[in-house]
Amino acid sequence: MAIQFDPIRLPPNAQALRAEVRAFVRQEIEAGTFDPNKGAIQAGHSAEFSRKVGAKGWIGITWPKKYGGHERSFLERYVVTEEFRVANAPVGLHFTADRQSGPMVLKYANERIKSDILPRITRGECCFCIGMSEPNSGSDLFAANVRATKCEGGFKVRGTKVWTTNAQHADYMIGLFRTSPSTKENRRHGLTQFLVDMKSPGITVNPIANIGGQREFNEVVFDDLFVPDDHALGEIDMAWKQATSELAYERSGPERFLEISYLLFELVRVLGKDLDVRSAEGIGRLVAQVHVLRRMSVSVNGMLQAGKEPVLEGSIVKDLGTVWQQQLPHRARDLTAFLDGDRHDREVFDRFLAHATTIVPKLTIQGGTTEVLRGIIARGLGLR
Ligand SMILES: Cc1cc2nc3c(=O)[nH]c(=O)nc-3n(C[C@H](O)[C@H](O)[C@H](O)COP(=O)(O)OP(=O)(O)OC[C@H]3O[C@@H](n4cnc5c(N)ncnc54)[C@H](O)[C@@H]3O)c2cc1C
Repeated sequence: MAIQFDPIRLPPNAQALRAEVRAFVRQEIEAGTFDPNKGAIQAGHSAEFSRKVGAKGWIGITWPKKYGGHERSFLERYVVTEEFRVANAPVGLHFTADRQSGPMVLKYANERIKSDILPRITRGECCFCIGMSEPNSGSDLFAANVRATKCEGGFKVRGTKVWTTNAQHADYMIGLFRTSPSTKENRRHGLTQFLVDMKSPGITVNPIANIGGQREFNEVVFDDLFVPDDHALGEIDMAWKQATSELAYERSGPERFLEISYLLFELVRVLGKDLDVRSAEGIGRLVAQVHVLRRMSVSVNGMLQAGKEPVLEGSIVKDLGTVWQQQLPHRARDLTAFLDGDRHDREVFDRFLAHATTIVPKLTIQGGTTEVLRGIIARGLGLR
């Protein structure tokens, strides 16, 4: 297989939408709905903001109208995601549902569940979390061992998931549970994805603080949780067949490689307009690199829109985006080392730099580790 990034540009309707989203963001910041500086430090949840975004028609933007969607393109969705990301807007309540859980429900749930849940997501009223990782099963998801045992009318679930982002806010989880042992012929056999109502009895959510002190992810313990039969998503035991293009969406979007873009903007601001050669070259290099990442990410989204499955290309975007972001705090520190703190307003910059420095290690891990992604890339290229 060769690497193929189709040369896709954002179409005029996406650019027009960008102007609309930007105006909305400006208005919401002025109205005090959210503070972009605060949002850079702590990913925000705002029921008010999510409801307003839903009312604008920007959640589930690509989904069928009959479920509250708007049947627009993935490139339009790209623009909405990008504008909210660079503004540090509080999209935490609806983001996971919009990006990956809603599409799973759309594809695999029955009509009653789709008609109930999808419109609530598009109105910005429904938060999802992803229950894949376990204490002994992270990169190797096929080792997952939280058991869902068949019982009258459904399944009983016992076991522990970990690193579950947003479990403390979520209305639903899409959980990956073991319904049968793996087989000799296929070690990926035996796992099923389920829709879990997080308000059900038998679920305990224990917060885990990250290195920056934020409490975004959790341990989730299931103790005889009951999940009804019709909450199984897709075929029993066959979850391994279901994750293909979803992973390309999860990995290649602008929310990944622009997670600490606030630091680049602050760097440009604090360096000012009269740049010396070294600063100009440093900023030029960073901006050129992020520009290429954007072109690649737009390309992956355009290929997904065209019905392709650019899993290899999505992995490359995630890996290069991680490398770029992990270098950014070092470059920013280097380029500002001799700036006079009294003459330059560095307070916000220094706060952002400290925060970015503590969070960039996680970028190697979330959404697939660097080593695993490089394994996928190598396999895609026929090198292993
Ligand atoms: C901020 C953050 C948010 C997260 N949110 C969620 C969430 O919402 N839901 C969820 O389910 N999970 C979530 N995760 C968990 C994340 O997906 C896992 O941590 C990740 O998949 C790695 O699994 P692990 O921690 O078990 O490490 P391991 O899989 O044990 O990996 C340890 C090391 O071994 C390397 N390694 C493993 N396998 C291979 C291989 N085959 N080849 C080469 N090297 C290998 C890895 O690259 C890594 O360096 C989150 C993680 C972070 C950091």
